[in-house]
Amino acid sequence: MRWRNRRASQNVEDRRTRSQRKPLAKGGIVGVLILLAAWYFGIDPNLINQVAGPLLDVPSGNTHSDLSPDSDPLAQFTSVVLADTETFWQRAFAEQQQEYQEPTLVLYRGATQTHCGTGQAAMGPFYCPADQTIYIDLSFYEDLRQQLGAPGDFAQAYVIAHEVGHHIQTLTGISQAMHQRQQRMSEAAANQESVKLELQADCLAGVWASYIDQQQWLESGDIEEAMQAAEAIGDDRLQMQSQGRIVPDSFTHGTSAQRLRWFQLGFTTHDPSACDTFNASEL
Ligand SMILES: [Zn+2]
Repeated sequence: MRWRNRRASQNVEDRRTRSQRKPLAKGGIVGVLILLAAWYFGIDPNLINQVAGPLLDVPSGNTHSDLSPDSDPLAQFTSVVLADTETFWQRAFAEQQQEYQEPTLVLYRGATQTHCGTGQAAMGPFYCPADQTIYIDLSFYEDLRQQLGAPGDFAQAYVIAHEVGHHIQTLTGISQAMHQRQQRMSEAAANQESVKLELQADCLAGVWASYIDQQQWLESGDIEEAMQAAEAIGDDRLQMQSQGRIVPDSFTHGTSAQRLRWFQLGFTTHDPSACDTFNASEL
């Protein structure tokens, strides 16, 4: 994908340089007061840290400004891909007289706090609807290449576009409606709903990829890279992997063939409304 010298997103928060757990520094003066009170009243400070830690963890990561294409190409690439999703979805929403609210993307290492609980690198990239944020530990790109056999920058772009797809589903209320339906369903039927949600995100990623194609930013082999990634992280493939990191979010993502088909459908139709997996006669 041609990405150098293009606009990078303003919505990337870089938490990679923050130290992991430092309750005192993190909590600031409030944390100190709580710890003093705990000491005074004889409460185990560790307990306080466990309780207050997440609450006191005010994200203060750097913004995008210190990312540079040369020193930090993966982060810069991710930022340009996010910017491309912003441009595309802004237009698509405007066509429907809607306003697109851009998601945040957090780069982290190891583990980080989210409104959906603690994000861990082993979970793979994920989207948290509660804070409308995509979380990614960039080491996932390495896993994608080495363990999942899906190399190439457009494989990485596809993964981000898929997570942005979940953001679209949240903005449009599709995710919330599905979760409500799932309450009244058997586990198997509820899983099937989750598969439809995932395949729709794949399809939306395909629609976005067709926009990149129209801009002539695709390079030869890019679409194959994305399709390889869609295939590599299908349920059936992942379950065959006996070791290494897995992506738990994807156990209800559909088979490799289904993921491939829906990505391609989005790519060839250029139309988000073609991504209606919930009413499709066949997945
Ligand atoms: Zn997903």
